[in-house]
Amino acid sequence: MISLINRLKEGKVLVSDGAWGTFLHKRGLQPGECPELWNVTHRDDILAIAQSYIDAGADMILTNSFGGSPIKLAHYGLKDRAFELNQTAAEISRQAAGDNHIVLGNIGPTGVMLMMGQISEQEMYDGFRIQAEALKKGGADAICIETMAAIDEGVLAVRAAKENTDLEVICSFTFEKTVQNDYRTMMGVTPYEMVKAIRDAGADIIGTNCGNGFDQMIYIVEEIRKVDPSTPILVHANAGVPLIEEGETIFPETPEMMASKVKELINCGANIIGGCCGTTPDHIRALVKEIKKY
Ligand SMILES: [Zn+2]
Repeated sequence: MISLINRLKEGKVLVSDGAWGTFLHKRGLQPGECPELWNVTHRDDILAIAQSYIDAGADMILTNSFGGSPIKLAHYGLKDRAFELNQTAAEISRQAAGDNHIVLGNIGPTGVMLMMGQISEQEMYDGFRIQAEALKKGGADAICIETMAAIDEGVLAVRAAKENTDLEVICSFTFEKTVQNDYRTMMGVTPYEMVKAIRDAGADIIGTNCGNGFDQMIYIVEEIRKVDPSTPILVHANAGVPLIEEGETIFPETPEMMASKVKELINCGANIIGGCCGTTPDHIRALVKEIKKY
């Protein structure tokens, strides 16, 4: 098992991988299909995605388990296969990563809200626990909880991972610019509120992912650093704001555009940089080349 925290202590900025969801669709995943089932039915495609990010020079790769919560898998009648699909996701990324690259077991939101009474706390916790245990069993080095918007859900996910595995835990929220010109999650959470809650829950690394591209990430990292000067920060930025052109979703930020923002992002305190929706191995290759300079 590789310690991400120890690698960061060497002082280098590390590069994470790029998009999985948009990449899967490019490889033929149809709308309405379960992405995590592909770990079993299209293993070679998943392995090829993982391998393409290793080949691009990433220090770490995610697993194809973002929607692997039993609560989400229930929509496809796959709730009972949650452990198997998450474990397989980690095994595939481990195979691509070998012994020297880090595997981040990916956990996304459940899609249901505690505050609306759609689910009990215990049921939500158990879902995250199953994912974290399965990802650990499949060989993940750390858990990366992403795209969170609600404090209560993010906290439960961190606790479930910390209390049931010995893995380091990253927790990342998604912020959008508001009409008041500050940044909040869909549930109204500010970067400040996020930092306090998820650190208290035991997260080792704080993150911000998805959203509107690199420019907003610089602002959010600055906001986090105002209240937390020391916890490592992970940034997974989208390739800009998606546009619809001729019925297709296009992400406008090129690898060169993303690479041009890296210096500023590092200066304001980011420790791990990678991509979210719309980013490709070419984006990661450009980030690697740029980050090597610092
Ligand atoms: Zn995204």
